[in-house]
This record gives sequence, C-alpha cells and structure tokens, in this order.
Amino acid sequence: MSARDVESRPSPIAGLGLFAKREFAPSERIAPYSGPTTSEPPSEAFSGGKVYALEITPGRWLDGASADNPARHANHACHPNAELIWHEEETMAWLTALRPIAAAEEITFDYGFSLAESLFHPCACRSADCVGRIIAAPLRPALRRHLRFSRPRD
Ligand SMILES: [Zn+2]
Repeated sequence: MSARDVESRPSPIAGLGLFAKREFAPSERIAPYSGPTTSEPPSEAFSGGKVYALEITPGRWLDGASADNPARHANHACHPNAELIWHEEETMAWLTALRPIAAAEEITFDYGFSLAESLFHPCACRSADCVGRIIAAPLRPALRRHLRFSRPRD
C-alpha cells in the first residue's frame, strides 16, 4: 500500500470516505487500519462521538482515531467491498478487498455493530435493500423484526 492507493474525500454515504485510487483485486490489502492497542474501550467522546475502536479480541481494542490512520474514514455499507482483517503477527488490521474494486470506488466494510449500537447509527449506503441502520450482516433479520415490533399501532 502506498499513499497513491487510497485517498480521503467527502463521501455520499457520510462525512469523509476512503476512496480507491487504483484497482484492487479480491483479497488484496488496500490500507492498514492502525493505532495503539488498549485494554479499555476508547471513549467515543474522545474521538468526537465517532467510533474508530475495533475490539480485536475480548478485552482488547485497537484505537484507530489517529489522524495518521486514513483508513478510519472508510464508511460502513450494507454490501461492502472490503473487510477489516486483524493480523496478530503484525499487530495491525488491514482493509482487504472482498471483490474487485475499481479506481475511484468508495471503500466500505461491515462495521459489525450490535442491535443496540445500530439504533444510534443510521446507514445511508444507498443500496436498494439498505436496512437503514449500521448493523452486522448476520443481525439484519433481527433488526427487521425489531423495527416491525416497534411500529406504532392504530
Ligand atoms: Zn445501508
């Protein structure tokens, strides 16, 4: 990965996004997601209310909030083109292509939020079947049920 491979710029999904500056092949590393590891979850307030902390293993977090970590700009999408993979031997996570990615395409991955977290984080990925919340793919059916149960009755 070099500085020419990705860039941060305004995204139609949310805020700044991370964009490919060249093509990526499936399984290719796109950008490192770097930062210090901690034994306590970094506070959201510290990073301006945004969530940049990954739970690598139970009780161990990677705080990606640093300006030295451009990959922190990667947005969530319901059909992401990348995934974030932890490499224990390098003590580093890598955004890695899930499928072929075109130059200028926005890099997205599944933030993997819980049902509770999803209620505070709307998704605007614009896919036809966007569930409207940032939530881990396996939990989406549960979210749909949750929203159905929550509908006001008349
Ligand atoms: Zn979505």
